[in-house]
Amino acid sequence: MVLPDECRVCGDRLKKVSRIPVCPNCLAAPEPLAAEYMCAACRAPFASPWPLDEHGLCGLCRRGAQGFDAAYSYGFYEGTLRELIHLLKYGKVHTLAAPLGRLLALAYPRDQRFDVIVPVPMHWRRRWDRGFNQADLLAEVLGKRIGVPVCRAARRRRATPPQAGLTGARRRENVTRAFSVRKAEAVQGRRVLLVDDVLTTGATVSACALALKRAGAKHVAVITVARADRRPSIAQSTPPLGETA
Ligand SMILES: [Zn+2]
Ligand SMILES: [Zn+2]
Repeated sequence: MVLPDECRVCGDRLKKVSRIPVCPNCLAAPEPLAAEYMCAACRAPFASPWPLDEHGLCGLCRRGAQGFDAAYSYGFYEGTLRELIHLLKYGKVHTLAAPLGRLLALAYPRDQRFDVIVPVPMHWRRRWDRGFNQADLLAEVLGKRIGVPVCRAARRRRATPPQAGLTGARRRENVTRAFSVRKAEAVQGRRVLLVDDVLTTGATVSACALALKRAGAKHVAVITVARADRRPSIAQSTPPLGETA
């Protein structure tokens, strides 16, 4: 095997021989997410407190539109973290599952207890095309780190069209009933931690969580390496203090 000598993210020369073709600086770059306001359940970030009710819940959670009970993510889906996830997923750099799985372990809520980890499944045809499911790789790393067994209990029923470019409502419709549970005994009456790489609208994991609940899961939380930042961009809000026009 020929080892690459340049970081696949920043292009810097790699000084040490490693199975991961990314330099230590880029691996250390992703920062934990921080936002002024977050939903108490799904942890969606908000730029103001107004979308949250007196219990700190966002509109989706208030309406019970999320199939999961809670969501945890390490960072925002942008910059270096986004590039690392793309390298794992589309660049097929499997070795990145270890450092990205470490970020999952950092996002893991220490005050909670889970009985089983379930990776969000891919339809077998897409998995065949890609050769692997990144959620499986991440779930394995997390499971070893936190000592919780991994069970591929969920199954994707049909190949859903790619979610990119669809609105939230269309995404939800697109994935409804796209999941089934093949090992109900693994989730019945249990607290399940659902693993995926990225949380965008939450429609996919929401549908998967609903399938697990239908199969008898008592509690379903979601953990992802990154989540989309859907707050309005800084450019659209007021300029920082101290700046004059
Ligand atoms: Zn680099
Ligand atoms: Zn919420």
